[in-house]
Amino acid sequence: MVDPPRTPADDPGSPQAPAPTRVPLASLGLGRTPGVPPAPPALVDGHRRPIHYLRLSVTDRCSFRCVYCMPTDGVSFVPRAEVLTYEEMVVLVRCFVALGIHRIRLTGGEPLLRRDLPRLVRALAAIDGVDDLAMTTNGYALAPLAGTLREAGLRRLNISIDTLDAARFARITRTGTLDRVLDGIDAACAAGFGPIKLNAVIVRGFNDDELVPLVRFAAARGAVMRFIEYMPIGVDGFWTDERFMATDAMLERLGDAFAIEDPVGYGPSAGIAGEGPAVYRDLTPRGGGAPTRVGFISAVSHGFCSTCNRVRMTAVGTLQECLAHPGQLSLRDALRAGADEDTLTRMIADALWDKSSGHAFAPTGGGRVMQTMSVTGG
Ligand code: SAM
Ligand code: SF4
Repeated sequence: MVDPPRTPADDPGSPQAPAPTRVPLASLGLGRTPGVPPAPPALVDGHRRPIHYLRLSVTDRCSFRCVYCMPTDGVSFVPRAEVLTYEEMVVLVRCFVALGIHRIRLTGGEPLLRRDLPRLVRALAAIDGVDDLAMTTNGYALAPLAGTLREAGLRRLNISIDTLDAARFARITRTGTLDRVLDGIDAACAAGFGPIKLNAVIVRGFNDDELVPLVRFAAARGAVMRFIEYMPIGVDGFWTDERFMATDAMLERLGDAFAIEDPVGYGPSAGIAGEGPAVYRDLTPRGGGAPTRVGFISAVSHGFCSTCNRVRMTAVGTLQECLAHPGQLSLRDALRAGADEDTLTRMIADALWDKSSGHAFAPTGGGRVMQTMSVTGG
């Protein structure tokens, strides 16, 4: 499969891309003249990549124990006092926004485990400069909250669903029940989130026989199905090379039921909100019917680090510049020690300059990262 090139503006490796320069701190609004609006900053890392997207983990706890993500036992969660309060999150998000970050996704762990999440959503949505506020959830506790979250200012939702079979769902998540997630998806659609994205990690031998049903399920709800390659992250002992399934193999399987068009592009160029690494294709049912647009996130077989536009902050306020490299900078400690917003903003800009060029994931399990996605904020 050949992924489409991004535009020069999106591709920092392109010769037409701007040369990397450290962010001029004056353009961050630091020391700005009152009443004079700052020029919009453009945060660029040391590898010429514009960074404008923050994934904010609000908890490392989860209601599920998905087999590929968390171990069954022996999971130790950070003490609550170490987790950022909502007030601390808002201060730190303001610092990211001062650097030009304008898209935020709440994640975890399971974000809906945080008490009164709509309060955080409301506060983040009110920050000047935040123009996209989204969340990734397992959907288990979503049904009663979908409407409130939408009213609070959440704009977009990704819901993880790896299988449509109740017994298999229980096996994969260990503690989840499919019905509750299906109710959550219905409630999200009814609340006006649209189109929602449904994410499935495909693990060979677990759910690769459900590629076609998942596409049909999403299409029937006007949702966008996305298939994610299993990455060698977390849970020691679960990865085997046989369990890894590359996007090309998924396409081959889907080809039995659908005519598959060439890639139409990434998010906006494919008419799909968000600026993630998913490559979208149109799949037309072979028996007749309308095409449906499906996303493929091929982190292992077709790495996309050269166009990475994101940064993460863990639930304890550690800046994690790259998914594959546990972060070092504790913004929480700096904040609790009394650092002001200008200082915190400079610390973030400096750390981002040193963002790693990328991961070394391989279909043979190479480049393994031990810190689970639930801690990193997947
Ligand atoms: N609990 C929420 C959920 O499951 O949607 C949000 C956090 S979860 C870590 C975010 C996403 O990471 C989920 O779609 C999950 O399937 C995915 N994920 C977790 N471990 C993964 C792995 N090793 N490879 C690929 N995706 C993974
Ligand atoms: Fe599953 Fe998400 Fe929880 Fe990991 S964080 S165990 S992927 S529900």
